[in-house]
Amino acid sequence: MEQTTTILEVRNLKKYFIADTDFFGRPTAYLKAVDGVSFSIEKGKTLGLVGESGCGKSTTGRTIIQLYEPTAGEIFFNGKTLSKLSEEKKLRRQMQMIFQDPYASLNPRMTVSDIIGDPLDIHKLTSLGERKDRIINLLQMVGLNSEHMSRFPHEFSGGQQQRIGIARALAVEPSFIICDEPISALDVSIQGQVINLLERLQEELGLTYLFIAHDLAMVKHISDIVAVMYLGKIVEMTNSLDLYSKPQHPYTQALLSAIPIPDPLAQKQKRIHLTGDVPSPIHPPTGCNFSTRCPHAFSRCSEQEPAFADIGAGHMAACHLLHR
Ligand code: SF4
Repeated sequence: MEQTTTILEVRNLKKYFIADTDFFGRPTAYLKAVDGVSFSIEKGKTLGLVGESGCGKSTTGRTIIQLYEPTAGEIFFNGKTLSKLSEEKKLRRQMQMIFQDPYASLNPRMTVSDIIGDPLDIHKLTSLGERKDRIINLLQMVGLNSEHMSRFPHEFSGGQQQRIGIARALAVEPSFIICDEPISALDVSIQGQVINLLERLQEELGLTYLFIAHDLAMVKHISDIVAVMYLGKIVEMTNSLDLYSKPQHPYTQALLSAIPIPDPLAQKQKRIHLTGDVPSPIHPPTGCNFSTRCPHAFSRCSEQEPAFADIGAGHMAACHLLHR
């Protein structure tokens, strides 16, 4: 039997931002960007976190890596709580992030050599004699070479800039990487190359990924587990095969129906058009968050929040229709 080790566990994570204050500066309204999210990721696996813009998926990633302080909930990394992360510098090094806009995430005044060498220096990972060889090694791991060392970020294409960002993340030898929409800003022709690179590195280095994307098509091939977010909450989560072949939550069904299939004759499922806009996370609907747009909503949906629970064989979903 295959042994599994949980690298990351997130329990009931919440991140609220103050949206309004009264005359005395006291908060009167909160934007509930992440509102009770729970999941875990096994070593060497990828969890794809998907949802429309503003659903809280990137805030979830940034809260896990402690760019934001959680409002509530617990984060365990290798079994240790991250609440006192500042005291756990070594743990922090093991978690890295790759960003959506590779150019914006690279210092335009630094050469590639300095960009990748910086984390090596900060964490004192190489001696002066080893530094150059390690930078070349990292560049080769991401499909670049020593000739690129003295160049600046603007001299590279978007795909190459993302490769530099990946090399910088790998410099500190992380075990877990949050990939925050790493292919969304790239040409479609380049997206597959970056996915292939991330998959190869995962295989070679045993990396674990949280892969964030706004489109189910983007996470299909890389994810072992897929979680779908809507308005700060996960509404469905299961293994990749089940999610794409047997989606159960009405929101997931609508997202999947919007993915174009290359052969129009093969498009068996009718596109589900959702009406209305995503409600404000400052004033979410009562009951089910999706009730204002769900084609199957009934009276109970706006009165009672559905539990996020197992509907069979570990397939999790939050919908009254699935828990009767
Ligand atoms: Fe739709 Fe109701 Fe299910 Fe929410 S609980 S997804 S509104 S049917």
